[in-house]
Amino acid sequence: MPYSDAGHAPVTVIGLGLMGQALAGAFLADGHPTTVWNRSTAKAERLVARGATLAASARDAVAASPLVVVCVTDYQAARELLDPLGDVLAGRVLVNLTTGTSKQAHETAEWAALQGATYLDGVILAFPQTIGTAGAVLLYGGARPAFDTHESTLRSLGAGTAHLGVDHGLPALYDMAMLSVMWNVLNGFLHGAALLGTARVNAATLASFMRQGIGAMTEWVSAYADQIDAGRYPAVDSTLDTHLAGMEHLIQESESLGINVELPRFVKTLTDRAVAEGRGGDSYAAMIEQFRKPTTVRP
Ligand code: NAP
Repeated sequence: MPYSDAGHAPVTVIGLGLMGQALAGAFLADGHPTTVWNRSTAKAERLVARGATLAASARDAVAASPLVVVCVTDYQAARELLDPLGDVLAGRVLVNLTTGTSKQAHETAEWAALQGATYLDGVILAFPQTIGTAGAVLLYGGARPAFDTHESTLRSLGAGTAHLGVDHGLPALYDMAMLSVMWNVLNGFLHGAALLGTARVNAATLASFMRQGIGAMTEWVSAYADQIDAGRYPAVDSTLDTHLAGMEHLIQESESLGINVELPRFVKTLTDRAVAEGRGGDSYAAMIEQFRKPTTVRP
């Protein structure tokens, strides 16, 4: 049955944790008739006060709207919730915004197809506070026509709403890539803060100092991305040999100040391998070859 998303289309949100409440709140703010359900009913109270309809069961919540958004702790919870619902999902568009791996996304897509549902897997690259704003990025994978039909409703969740293609697993892969970037940047900051802390320089000072450095680094990243995509790593700025010498200094400094050295040692281990493979004269981008391999030696 064709479904028009013109106007304020109805939507169901299942899972009202910190993120689910933000999602339902953004739909309500945009005028969408919003049905909600959560295992613990109390979490629906504020949304109901804002005009949401609390369904009596998960099954009733699914039955209430052609577009069903699920956002719970993990895929296991999502399946525990959805598995017993039987045929009520048939003919609906199920959007799963629960965080997981691309394998879990593919498995859930297969399961949803067996239920007769059209499945979109999505990821949220945002905190609950930014949902519904220009800063919120939400990425979707799965059938394009289903995304097109519901795009204006899904856009209520953030201006950075995009469909990446038919691969249900691709959004999760983007999510994992961004998590990797985030934790590595944060760990570098924390290690740096521990270093400077030994000289009583506070973390706020490093944070403001970092702003400029991070800005410059995003420019290097673009240049290195071009090298990675081309498969050639000319050292126009600094060779891996030079980086390696700096890593040794970082380890020595950390050791002598009595702070944790696992992070710089791990980075040096990878760089040692790249240099041993003849990459010492290349740029840092050559390290991609270390990350592309499966782990053989645990750091
Ligand atoms: P949360 O506040 O801990 O909420 C978890 C939700 O999952 C609650 O509604 C909980 O229900 C429900 N749940 C867990 N197990 C369940 C089960 N077996 N059956 C039914 N419901 C179950 O977590 P959140 O921050 O909302 O995160 C939800 C998802 O969004 C996660 O996958 C998370 O990675 C993703 N996400 C979160 C953020 C963020 O900043 N918070 C950002 C991006 C993505 P009860 O209330 O009954 O326990």
